[in-house]
Amino acid sequence: MTRVVLSIGSNVGDRLTRLQSVVDALGDSVRAVSPIYETDAWGGVEQGPFLNAVLIADDPDRDCHDWLRWGQELEQAADRVRGQRWGPRTLDVDIVTCHDGDTEVRSATAELTLPHPYAHLRAFVLMPWLVADPAATLTVADTTRPISLWLEDLDPAERSGVRLTDLTLHTEPAAD
Ligand code: ADP
Ligand code: MG
Repeated sequence: MTRVVLSIGSNVGDRLTRLQSVVDALGDSVRAVSPIYETDAWGGVEQGPFLNAVLIADDPDRDCHDWLRWGQELEQAADRVRGQRWGPRTLDVDIVTCHDGDTEVRSATAELTLPHPYAHLRAFVLMPWLVADPAATLTVADTTRPISLWLEDLDPAERSGVRLTDLTLHTEPAAD
């Protein structure tokens, strides 16, 4: 059984539909869905703002690499073209953390780095994640702290750049 925290974002086309497609693909695996935030793009490339959200999901059969591949398939299905680093994208699905049972999986390969190396620096990850799971912790360089504390460490401008929207992601009611 693995449990993942997913950070999803879109800044091209019908952004809300793109994010909803990820929730739909999770189906019964979804455990928590954050509100949607709007965020000016990060990384210095001129482009439109992102919609961002965090999803928590688990699955008895997938391992952490399976989640990565699953996210990449969704990105491809959203016609994502891999161009410029940190450039515009129809859909980005990042694995923030992955637990296998009670163990947090650590990985340091280029293909899969866990926990996500930028998660503690990005208010657009930490703010929705805190709402989806107020008790969440994040480990950075062997320091494990509540994500609320990582968030407090960020520049106020980074936090104020992440704006709560009234857009919502909906989960299907579980079938009887
Ligand atoms: P980014 O999300 O950093 O803006 P991309 O979505 O283009 O960039 O991802 C680039 C690469 O990052 C992918 O080929 C993927 O294998 C790798 N990667 C490493 N760790 C992770 C992770 N935790 N989640 C998602 N992708 C990851
Ligand atoms: Mg990505």
